This record gives sequence, C-alpha cells and structure tokens, in this order.
Amino acid sequence: MTRRQIAPLLVGRRIASVATTRASTLFLTRPTALREGLVGREVRELERRGKYLVARLDDAACLVLHLGMTGQLFSAQATSPRLLSAGARSALRPEQQLRFEPDSHTHLRLGFADGGPEVFLRDVRKFGKVLLLRRGESHPRIDRLGVDALELPGEVLFAASRGRRVAIKGLLLDQAVAAGVGNIYADEALFRARIRPTRRAGALTRRECEALAEAVRAVLLRSIETGGSSTRDYVAPDGADGAFQDERRVYARGGEPCLVCGAPIRRTLVAQRGTHYCPRCQR
Ligand SMILES: [Zn+2]
Repeated sequence: MTRRQIAPLLVGRRIASVATTRASTLFLTRPTALREGLVGREVRELERRGKYLVARLDDAACLVLHLGMTGQLFSAQATSPRLLSAGARSALRPEQQLRFEPDSHTHLRLGFADGGPEVFLRDVRKFGKVLLLRRGESHPRIDRLGVDALELPGEVLFAASRGRRVAIKGLLLDQAVAAGVGNIYADEALFRARIRPTRRAGALTRRECEALAEAVRAVLLRSIETGGSSTRDYVAPDGADGAFQDERRVYARGGEPCLVCGAPIRRTLVAQRGTHYCPRCQR
C-alpha cells in the first residue's frame, strides 16, 4: 500500500541532484559516493524488504533506505503525506510537510530532472540508514531479512520454529524469520492468537503457527489503517505509534485488567524486550 504510494514519487524519475548533511552514522555509504552513484540515474522500481525501502536504479544499483524510529520520507507536494511518514515523536505533521523547507535534519534531498517535487528524508534522531548498493553488491542487513511480516505464511512460521527452543516472541522478532514485526505488534499478535510469548517456539502446533501468522497480519494492517505505524513499509518499534495506541490490548498495560477476561495483564522480559500478556487468555 504505502510502497505503492511512495513509488510514484521515485519510480520513472531521473535523479538530477543529491544534497545531504555531513557524513554520519546515518550514511552507510558516504555522502560523496552517494552523490556520485545517484546523480543521473533513473529509479526503475521500488520494493520493500521488511523495514527497508529498496529503490532499484537503471544501472542495477540499489538505493536502500531505512527510516528507523524517527525517519520520514516525503515529498513537499505529496497529496497524502501522512501515509509517507513514519509516525514518530518530533516528526513533522502532515500539514507541516506540505509547506516544508529543508532543515538541518533533512539528511537526504533528491531533486529530479523532470523539475517535479523533490523528495526528502528527514530524521531528527538519525536512527535511519542510507545505503547505496552497486550492481551485484549485497549487504548483510538486507540479505538477512526474512519474509515480509505482512506476507508471512503460517507454514513458514511453522517450519522456522521446528526444533527451536527460543521463546516464540523472540522468534517473531527475529528479522531473519519475519521482517517487520516490532515489539508492540509481536505482543498484540500473540494476544490475538492466544499464545503466551514465553512458549518455546518449537512447541507450537501447525494450527497455532497459522493463527499467529494471521494475527500478525491483522495487527499490522490495523496499525497501518489507524495511521499508527504509519506505513506498511515501516513498523514503528517501541512507542511512537500514534492512534494504534488506543487499540493496544496488552502492550504497556501491565497490571491493568485484560479486556477479554479481566485478569491483570502481566509484564515480563522476553529476548530483552518488555513483554505483555494475559496469563489466562494466552497459553
Ligand atoms: Zn485475558
């Protein structure tokens, strides 16, 4: 959905200018190399790999963007900028994006040969990443990514969990299994599927894996609809997920009554992440 909405801003357009901020942790490819590699290239297609947007160029290089927790990708003239932004604290609101003037947090600014709207990557905290992969080059960050969470088949989850002693929530957060499941969404999906986050992954039945994959899809779609994790390209990790906050049934509700059975929601740690579940509904 959002990839499709971002695509027209990039696909079929020839990059004429690239402006960046100074070299920093945000740039996995140095700004000078980025400019050299991008200017004159046309964007052929845009795909999503988990939390990454991958723009394939006409020379078979790929511009890879990760918006992190606070990054926003938008065009100042986009008609629905809300859909292009990662929901985050200190993020620009849609109306601000419409009359946006690049500021010191605008780390990447792409101008196009067609003279149409520029595209900006703005990130106040610099958690995002910008990377240019030359033809045939790969990067472990991208290669390791598993199936996109929105398209995760129960069958894949079942296969990936066989023989695994790790907690099922840990497996869900493993980007090599399903790219794009953030902490909040893992908790919410496990609640929907009535599976306890601490269960050993290998002990889940095929049916439970199918229910869980279905729940992951439902939760992610809902968070996108509410503008929560704002794009289906970027699943906000902790916090900063806008309206979806109102729909959380377990996440950050430790001690409060379960909305289904009334039992107090428990909080624990799984894979070093704050984890919430209902001790009665989830087995
Ligand atoms: Zn309950």
